[in-house]
Amino acid sequence: MSTRVEVHPGREAVVEFDPDLTFECVDECTWCCQHGVLLYERDFEGLASYADLADSTTSFRGEEFVRRERKDRTDHVDEDGAACYFLREDGLCALHAEHDWKPTRCSVFPLAVERRDGDIHVDVRESAHDHCEGLDVSDRRVIDNLDAFLPELLWDLPDPDTHREL
Ligand code: SF4
Ligand code: SF4
Repeated sequence: MSTRVEVHPGREAVVEFDPDLTFECVDECTWCCQHGVLLYERDFEGLASYADLADSTTSFRGEEFVRRERKDRTDHVDEDGAACYFLREDGLCALHAEHDWKPTRCSVFPLAVERRDGDIHVDVRESAHDHCEGLDVSDRRVIDNLDAFLPELLWDLPDPDTHREL
């Protein structure tokens, strides 16, 4: 069963997940920050204010991503020893911690977005069920806080789907 929710004024999403799903990010987890992140055009332009784009981003299939890089540490890295360029040794995102800013796609996790029949549909990412430690560990219902997960920018994108990965 799906539920239609007004996320921003005049911007609705069709919610496919259980309305009772709760989420609170677990500080020590950092799983979703161990990958490359797609940058929508506005994010790419915004990132230029905080970082050297030549160092921190890479092009893949015609789109821009935050790079993954091998880290000189064993914490907060994927099995191959790499993580997002901006993931610091202390497990915090340098962009968020130092500039109170992060790319749109980082807000959306652990949700998945897909445009179907003109509507934005939102569900939990398949991989999040296996790896995200923040699902159903608090009393903060996702459906009541969708504006924090789904920036309004998503409704203006020609392709807001979140399946593209580095
Ligand atoms: S940009 Fe920041 S929040 Fe996004 S994946 Fe990288 S470290 Fe995580
Ligand atoms: S995978 Fe989930 S709990 Fe882990 S850092 Fe990402 S959002 Fe937080």
